[in-house]
Amino acid sequence: MESEKDIVLIYSQRHKLWIWGGLLIFSGVSPFFSEYIFYFLRIDPIVVDLGAVFIFLFSLLGAVFSIKCPKCRLGLVWYAMSKKDVGAWLEWLLNIKKCPRCKIEGSQL
Ligand SMILES: [Zn+2]
Repeated sequence: MESEKDIVLIYSQRHKLWIWGGLLIFSGVSPFFSEYIFYFLRIDPIVVDLGAVFIFLFSLLGAVFSIKCPKCRLGLVWYAMSKKDVGAWLEWLLNIKKCPRCKIEGSQL
């Protein structure tokens, strides 16, 4: 069980991370099923692929612009992606306890 001092900064924004992350995964796998989508729904595979690109960009921008520090409004996803290593930014984002700009802690919210 987490103590109050260990509350991650984005605790109250986890649902946004699930929504945007789910859309990113959906956009990543849907081109693999474009032939099935064409077979069942008669949607052209190129439309499915272009839709996947659109959903990918939309969900990436949604995550960048909606997950922010509650106090100083620093975009935490963009900060993590631009300042942390490629393989480490998501883990950093999921475990961040203190805002890198204003230093507010998750337990103070
Ligand atoms: Zn902040």
